[in-house]
Amino acid sequence: EACLGAIDAAGALNAFVHHTPDLAMERAAAADARLQGDSEAPAMCGLPIGIKDLFCTKGVPSQAASRILEGFRPEYESTVSQNLADAGAVMLGKLNMDEFAMGSSNETSVYGNAVNPWRRGNDDAQLTPGGSSGGSAAAVAADLCLAATGTDTGGSIRQPAAFTGTVGIKPTYGRCSRWGIVAFASSLDQAGPMTKSVRDAAIMLEAMCGHDPKDSTSADLAVPNFEAALTGDIRGKKIGIPREYRMDGMPEEIETLWQDGIAMMRDAGAEIVDISLPHTKYALPAYYVIAPAEASSNLARYDGVRYGHRAQLAPGDGITEMYEKTRAEGFGAEVQRRVMVGTYVLSAGFYDAYYNRARKVRALIKKDFDDVFAAGVDCILTPATPSAAFGLGEMIDADPIQMYLNDVFTVTVNLAGLPGIAVPTGQDARGLPLGLQLIGRPWEEADLLSSAYALE
Ligand code: GLN
Repeated sequence: EACLGAIDAAGALNAFVHHTPDLAMERAAAADARLQGDSEAPAMCGLPIGIKDLFCTKGVPSQAASRILEGFRPEYESTVSQNLADAGAVMLGKLNMDEFAMGSSNETSVYGNAVNPWRRGNDDAQLTPGGSSGGSAAAVAADLCLAATGTDTGGSIRQPAAFTGTVGIKPTYGRCSRWGIVAFASSLDQAGPMTKSVRDAAIMLEAMCGHDPKDSTSADLAVPNFEAALTGDIRGKKIGIPREYRMDGMPEEIETLWQDGIAMMRDAGAEIVDISLPHTKYALPAYYVIAPAEASSNLARYDGVRYGHRAQLAPGDGITEMYEKTRAEGFGAEVQRRVMVGTYVLSAGFYDAYYNRARKVRALIKKDFDDVFAAGVDCILTPATPSAAFGLGEMIDADPIQMYLNDVFTVTVNLAGLPGIAVPTGQDARGLPLGLQLIGRPWEEADLLSSAYALE
């Protein structure tokens, strides 16, 4: 009830876009009953959470913040949200995001942007909570729920976490089932928790993940007890500092944040080693070829017939006009840009020059990480974002490339399929939160969370 009240009071943040108070009270009552009867009830039992609008939730609008999914109420529940419900978590509603998870500011949403609860000192200007999981980050930071689900295709959990002083982990590709999550770029998409602390992230990840036969890329691996692994003991761990992440023009405060993080880990007994990930500079261009390519294919299903919105047709309009008008009205500008870029790089004449080349670059990026881990590095420490939260309107109105540059530290991790976590560790001169990123070995989320716990 306290959370439902907080959601109502914080309507201006535009974090929740569909509210499910009746369902929440029903599930809360069931959780109360379960807690009384079962002393072994999972840690998530009874905890109020929010679910990103990208997850299909049975009977509850699931629109991926797009007009084209207007009125869509799935007949089924995503595996991740079902796993959370089975653990007794109580969904309060669906959270704002960039349309189809494309963006870094939550400003491409059909519902309008979510707002970051943080301000720059005394300046009233509204800031972005980041994106695409901006509603999730804003809701957790503003205490509208205890935790939320996010998804991360190219930083969409870690960047909004860094912008709002929250914790966000993108697990290894395949750790969480993608079944029932609206697909953006299927070889990159992963779900993960967004929480107030590393401990909460460990507890929630354990409840979310696990093998799912309904997703052929879901890993058939046992789920570790992530919370029990949180010793925070990093003595003797090798922490790699990649020199290629020291970008030209990196703001002083990000450099300082990074140095402070390095000092903190060294003081806690870790061994700090300089490493090289030579193909880093190609990650962003490769990502912005591969992600749109996969998106253009995934989004072909929104044809005005199977789901959601269909345009009004004029007399004489045939099926081509129906597709054209529906997709022109149903998709926003950024989604249309991705579909066009993706279709172009997959077209017969350009496939080898762009798509295949990007795939080769992706393999090299992954090999960079493999080599470093083979040399004994346990975790890699980098900044999570190149800046603190920026103002609403500041980037969306500029050249789209400016927005894409936000993802410079995060997309490498998706291309390589690795786990990455953003942890708030400092603030800028005006008091805005800043976060560091730790990147771990595949399937070693337990170890990654424990290192993040030491940094928190
Ligand atoms: N900024 C990235 C993009 O727009 C974020 C994608 C994501 O992680 N969902 O593609």
